[in-house]
Amino acid sequence: MNQKIRKEDALHYHAKGRPGKIQVIPTKEYNTQRDLSLAYSPGVADPCLEIAANPEDVFKYTAKGNLVAVISNGTAVLGLGDIGPEASKPVMEGKGLLFKIYADIDVFDIELNTKDVDEFVRTVQILEPTFGGINLEDIKSPECFEIETRLKRDLKIPVMHDDQHGTAIISGAALLNALEIVNKKIEDVRIVVSGAGASAISCTKLYLSLGATPANIAMFDRNGHINTGRDDLDEMKDIFATEKVYDSMADAMVDADVFLGLSVANIVSQDMVKSMAKDPIVFAMANPDPEISYPEATEARQDIIMATGRSDYPNQVNNVLGFPYIFRGALDVRSTEINEAMKLAAVRALADLAKKSVPDIVNMAYNQESLTFGRNYIIPKPVDPRLLTMVAPAVAKAAMDTGVARHPITDWEAYEQQLAT
Ligand code: NAP
Ligand code: MG
Repeated sequence: MNQKIRKEDALHYHAKGRPGKIQVIPTKEYNTQRDLSLAYSPGVADPCLEIAANPEDVFKYTAKGNLVAVISNGTAVLGLGDIGPEASKPVMEGKGLLFKIYADIDVFDIELNTKDVDEFVRTVQILEPTFGGINLEDIKSPECFEIETRLKRDLKIPVMHDDQHGTAIISGAALLNALEIVNKKIEDVRIVVSGAGASAISCTKLYLSLGATPANIAMFDRNGHINTGRDDLDEMKDIFATEKVYDSMADAMVDADVFLGLSVANIVSQDMVKSMAKDPIVFAMANPDPEISYPEATEARQDIIMATGRSDYPNQVNNVLGFPYIFRGALDVRSTEINEAMKLAAVRALADLAKKSVPDIVNMAYNQESLTFGRNYIIPKPVDPRLLTMVAPAVAKAAMDTGVARHPITDWEAYEQQLAT
């Protein structure tokens, strides 16, 4: 499935024709002098005045309600690190492409030349009038935490740092389904987390919201186990410090039920996987090479449920399963935020979708006779057209239920039909 991508092909793809991957297209007619007088002066003054009198009307007369800013400063780009704002632009354009093809959301990608948290936050604050939502992207930790927290507090439009929450939501759905398959309760399982960066912290926080028990979690960073005896922990890591101390990750893995890897390649051995409890759940998601490879892990344990970030093995934890539909649902009710309830609604909708019978179009895309819910299919596939009609409404409903929807949906059937077309 994973075709090897050659460098020259990737460069040609981006450079051919008009360079880059996105463009702006008018949505109204513009062929006659009259059209132009409506689109611009003098006709344009009327919507301006309506909006000046009633700011909510900006959603009625402009593209704001379908426009998301994908914003980065290029400090943690893919697995490439701090390569700078210009070099991050292909990724942000790519994200724009995905928003468009999966959820028909338009994106302006914005690359900011600053590493200063105050300057970053201030810049996004004053961009707010333009956009219906803000997708923060590829910003290094710990700055990403403060940037997101402050923007969520200050802005009246949805803000989500996808590297944190996207991965948490998709892997959370995968975890719920894996636990169901092996008949274990989230409250009871012991979880080892490798990594304490943006994605590991946010995934683990979401697992706590789903019911995991804090004392059952052992988190590791570069300096080892995160425990209360350490004096080098920042605020985020401190949340996960336990009284109990593990000398090594190998120690913690003995009899553990779940391994969550969001760190670096090849730091988990077959012996460590062999030492885990019955029916071990291993989500090894360091990209492009996981903490332990799929062939090695599945060779070590027949009873494993494994997920990775890779498309060439089953159970790919791919953020594209989340962000297009989460923003679609949030935008469609003009939500003022993306809150915990909306994220949990997305988790449950994704988990439920994987349990429904898979349409032929999805099986065909993956050359499968029939994908069925089980160890090798715990999360939906990105090509599944039902993602849009199941996840977006679930998120929109959760926004309404938590009182953050400015424009509630009343006719759900019509809404789902509109999404499907
Ligand atoms: P990050 O913020 O840089 O965090 C990396 C974490 O790994 C840090 O906490 C670091 O420890 C820790 N680490 C490094 N070496 C380690 C070791 N030998 N043992 C234990 N921990 C170690 O990066 P991130 O954005 O969270 O991403 C982490 C990884 O997950 C990347 O490979 C990324 O590609 C992958 N990822 C995959 C998906 C997906 O599959 N869907 C989604 C998101 C991220 P210190 O804190 O001590 O530096
Ligand atoms: Mg990213």
